[in-house]
Amino acid sequence: MSALNLYDTATREVGVFTPLKSGEVSIYVCGATVQASPHIGHIRSAVNFDILRRWLMHSGFEVSFIRNVTDIDDKILQKAAQEKTPWWAHAMKYEREFTAAFSALNVLPPTYEPRATGHITQMIELMQILIDNGSAYAPGNGDVYLEVRKLQRYLVLSGQRIDDLMPAADTDGAISMKRDPRDFALWKAAKPGEPSWPTPWGAGRPGWHLECSAMAHTYLGESFDIHGGGLDLIFPHHENEIAQSEAAGYGFAKRWLHNAWVTQSGEKMSKSLGNSLLVETILERVRGIELRWYLGSAHYRSMLEYSESALDESAVAFRRIEAFLKRATEMMGELPTPIVSDAFSAAMNDDLAVPTGLATISENLRTGNQGITDADHVVVSKSASEIRGALGILGCDPCDSHFEDKSGNDMTHAMDGVVKLALQERASARERKDFKASDAIRDGLLALGITIEDTAQGPRWSIMEKS
Ligand SMILES: [Zn+2]
Repeated sequence: MSALNLYDTATREVGVFTPLKSGEVSIYVCGATVQASPHIGHIRSAVNFDILRRWLMHSGFEVSFIRNVTDIDDKILQKAAQEKTPWWAHAMKYEREFTAAFSALNVLPPTYEPRATGHITQMIELMQILIDNGSAYAPGNGDVYLEVRKLQRYLVLSGQRIDDLMPAADTDGAISMKRDPRDFALWKAAKPGEPSWPTPWGAGRPGWHLECSAMAHTYLGESFDIHGGGLDLIFPHHENEIAQSEAAGYGFAKRWLHNAWVTQSGEKMSKSLGNSLLVETILERVRGIELRWYLGSAHYRSMLEYSESALDESAVAFRRIEAFLKRATEMMGELPTPIVSDAFSAAMNDDLAVPTGLATISENLRTGNQGITDADHVVVSKSASEIRGALGILGCDPCDSHFEDKSGNDMTHAMDGVVKLALQERASARERKDFKASDAIRDGLLALGITIEDTAQGPRWSIMEKS
C-alpha cells in the first residue's frame, strides 16, 4: 500500500506523513468553546478529523486523539450572566449538546477529552517556565503576557509579519501595561464577579491559547504528530499555541491540518443565520448518517457551500447506496464483509481525497446493481464489500450498530425473531406430518395480519396492509 501523504499548513505542501513513534499517531484537535449549540460548521470539523482518525486506525496505527473542551471564556461568562445561570452550568449544558451532536454523527469519542478548567495547575506550570526563561512577563496587574518580539519564530502558519499585526485584542484596557501591543495574554486578571484561580502573579483565568498548549503537553508530551482545527483558528490561536509551546522548549506539533468552512453564499456561516444551521434543526430534515455523508463528502480543505437542496440531493444519493447494500445482503443471505479497495486506499493516502474515494463507491454501485440484475453473486458480493469498506472509513456504514434506530429497531428485531420461531415450529410440524399444528400456526399468524412469502432466501414475512 502506498504511504499516507498529508498537507501541512506550515509548509503549504503535501508530503509523506511519518509519525514520531513508529506505529503510533498523536493528534490534538481544538474542540468546542461550549457557549452555544453546535452548528454544522463545528460538526464538519469533527467529521473531517474523525475520517482522518479512522483512516489512520485502518492503516494500522494506534491513535491517541485529544479534543479539548473550552469551558471558560468571555462569551460563556457573558451568556451565563444574562441567563442568570452559573457559568459552569451554562458550559455543561452546551458541552452535552456537542457530545450528542458528535454521537448522532458517529464521531468516535476522543481518547481523552480534557476540559480547560481541569488543567489550571498545568497552565500555571507552563507560565512559570515562560516567565523563568524570560519569554513571558507579569506587569503586576494580574495579567501575564507572552513577549512576541523575543520569539525565535512567530507566525509560521499564517506567514504574516509581526510589524503588520494589529495589537492583540485579548485584553481590555491594559494595552499600556504591555511591552508591545502585539504581546498576547496567557492569563487574564480577575474581574469583579468573574470566576478566578490563584496564581503567583495574581488571581485570574486562563487565556484561550494557553489552555491548548497546556493540555496538548499534558496528554501528548513535548512533541506530537498532528495538530488540527478549523481554518479560522490559524491566527491568532494556533500561532500563539506554537509561540507559547516553542518558547517553553517544546517541539510541539510536527504537522498542521486545517479544515475549511461550511459556507452559505460563499460566506463563513455566522450567528446572523439563526438556528437554521444548528445540528439539531438539520437532524429533523435528514438522519445523522445522511448529514455525516454530506459533510464528509467534500475534501477537508475545500469550502462546503451549504444549501437545503444540496443536502437533500446528497441524502437521496446515500439512500441509493443503502438500498443496494440491503438488496445485496438479501441476495447473499449475509452482510457483506467490509473490504477497503486499493483504489479507495490510494485516494485516502493522497491527502484524504474523499471525492476521489466517492467515485470508487459510485463505480461499485453501478457494477453491483448490474450484478443484481444479472443475479451475479460474485460481482454483487465484491461491490457490496468494497462499498461497505469505504463507508466504514467515512463513518457512514449503515450496518454499523451505532446507526441502529434505537426507538423502533429493538421491537422490529424481537418481532422478527418471534415470527421466525413460529415458522420453524410450522416447518417441524409439517415434517412430522402434524398438519393440524402447522395450519394452526399459519392461521394464527394470518389472524395477526402477518403474511408469509417463500423466497429463494427462505420465508420472508411482512405485515398486511390494511385495506
Ligand atoms: Zn486550541
